[in-house]
Amino acid sequence: MKNKGKQKQTDQRNYTLLLILLLLLSYAAVMLYKSQNEPKPAADAGSSESVTQPAAAETAPQTTPAPLQTAPLPVPDREIYLTFDDGPCENTPQVLDILDQYGAKATFFTVGAFVDRYPDYAAEIVKRGNLIACHSYTHDFQKCYASADAFMSEIDQWKRAVTQACGSVPERLCVRFPGGSTTKHAASVADAIKGRLSDADYRWFDWDAGDNDKWPKGNTAGLPAEEYYWQSYEKCMGWFKNDPDKPVVFLFHDTEIGTVHILADVLQDLQQRGYAFKMLDAHPDWN
Ligand SMILES: [Zn+2]
Repeated sequence: MKNKGKQKQTDQRNYTLLLILLLLLSYAAVMLYKSQNEPKPAADAGSSESVTQPAAAETAPQTTPAPLQTAPLPVPDREIYLTFDDGPCENTPQVLDILDQYGAKATFFTVGAFVDRYPDYAAEIVKRGNLIACHSYTHDFQKCYASADAFMSEIDQWKRAVTQACGSVPERLCVRFPGGSTTKHAASVADAIKGRLSDADYRWFDWDAGDNDKWPKGNTAGLPAEEYYWQSYEKCMGWFKNDPDKPVVFLFHDTEIGTVHILADVLQDLQQRGYAFKMLDAHPDWN
């Protein structure tokens, strides 16, 4: 009886141990299963996007993107004089920002009436170290070219507007004829005006090249505006390719948004071509 009882106790203990072992095994199996099937924590916790990312993206090694490789800039050995006509206007601050990004200074042939309308932009042109220059008060051919007196009176009105906006006018005034000195509108008075400008010790400049932003008539292929401006720019610069000593006065209009859109590319391209950006008061013809 005693042995039988002992045997029964042993059986019960073995049964209990087996039960515990089975429970432990079941627990281990459940834990193993869970660890293999739980979603892994995403790199950016809380974002569900990483779950839907392709496997390749998740396993790709984390690398810092290499900086964009740009060709080293040549030492400038030629000069370009960027000029912006007909402003100031809403685009002018953007033009100034782009020029600043490339360390470029330019000459702004401003219209006095727009200086009155946007005095802060006119002041900003000067504040950022650019040259403010005169492009009449009205830009109205009939008024400007009514007589040499009328032209000089437009200049005086421009000086009043710029003094009001900027505090002063440049020591020596730089003038550009609206439409250029050879425009048919000025034909009868151009020589008289040139004489008066010379008497007043003012300087005047036309241009050697431009991006045609004011003359869409040349766009016979019907290209999108910016593409046409870029082609015109490249074509002009081709004229000076083999003439490194020729200083280039380039005409843009800050009133044309397409010019603003291509400006950064233009400045980058000019740097690659070895041009230094200068203002007209540094031009060989200034003195
Ligand atoms: Zn103009």
